[in-house]
Amino acid sequence: MKALSWHAPYDVRVSDDVPVPALEGPRDAVVRVVRSAVCGTDLHPYRGEIAGFTPGTVTGHEFTGVVEECGSGVHGLRPGDRVVASDVIACGRCWYCRQGWHYQCEQVGLFGYDTVVGRTAVAGGHAEYVRVPFADTVLSPVPDDVTDEQALFIGDILATGYTCAERGEVAPGDVVAVIGCGPVGLMAMKSAQLMGASRVLAVDPVASRRDLASVHGGTPLEPGDDLAERVRALTDGRGADVVLEAVGVDAALLSSLEIVRPRGTVSAAGAHASQAMPMPTGLAFGKELTLRFAVGDPIAVRDRLMRVVREGRIDPTFVISHRLPLAEAEEGFRLFDSGRATKVVLVP
Ligand code: ZN
Ligand code: ZN
Repeated sequence: MKALSWHAPYDVRVSDDVPVPALEGPRDAVVRVVRSAVCGTDLHPYRGEIAGFTPGTVTGHEFTGVVEECGSGVHGLRPGDRVVASDVIACGRCWYCRQGWHYQCEQVGLFGYDTVVGRTAVAGGHAEYVRVPFADTVLSPVPDDVTDEQALFIGDILATGYTCAERGEVAPGDVVAVIGCGPVGLMAMKSAQLMGASRVLAVDPVASRRDLASVHGGTPLEPGDDLAERVRALTDGRGADVVLEAVGVDAALLSSLEIVRPRGTVSAAGAHASQAMPMPTGLAFGKELTLRFAVGDPIAVRDRLMRVVREGRIDPTFVISHRLPLAEAEEGFRLFDSGRATKVVLVP
């Protein structure tokens, strides 16, 4: 089958001779991919920022498709069902899964991410077919009135943005600042609006991202030394009630702590990997801040999000800037890496 594999930094290749995956256990399913997407998380191995990737790893953790085959232990799914996969692979049965905290699952994994997340590598969705472990937990049916592309982002970026806003406890009337208006930041913005935010301040250095945020109701702001001052000027001198951080670097988190109001909440969905950030504890203590981290959990929030999408309250497809055949996935990575694409969708 055709699939995209990672070989080395800036070296991903589409080939036609990747073996079609087969069921390996009773809870597995094999899914024929209909749409997949390139995510910011894919850029870490692409840019060589993460060690531990095995050459030949099929990438991709955002995909929708049709169930081709199910193991004997898969309940509630059958061949022919349209499904969206959760990017997070979880068993659905361990103590953490029973709490609804699927990213903490004892058997957690991430499609196409080798053993960087979890102990077992599972090939990803930038392919014609994918093997899905724990299929009745990881896959969710897509109703007839929801398109593949609308469902696609429930498996990752929409769920991540929504989880970020939920962990930020966005309440009606809040002024919410979103730091980083990439696909996840934009989904966090949409989610904050859904939760009743009166205003969303959309902070990003890239003009095209600010413009997109602005079209969708955000107040665009450029980052800078005086950002906290500008945010206070827009919030009666207080600062943002909630800050949703979707960048994943120290500077963005520090800036979030500065622009949030006293007693406010910072919720960080950016993929942080710093070993030692200088934490301004004096500031955090003085302002009595709440700081939370949020890895998206599609399994926990997908039913709610499917309803939101069906009701037309969020149509997440607005972030799609490019649709390419899977055969052109290498170009898709180049476009996304260089910032020329907001979101690339691949069509097998
Ligand atoms: Zn992702
Ligand atoms: Zn589990």
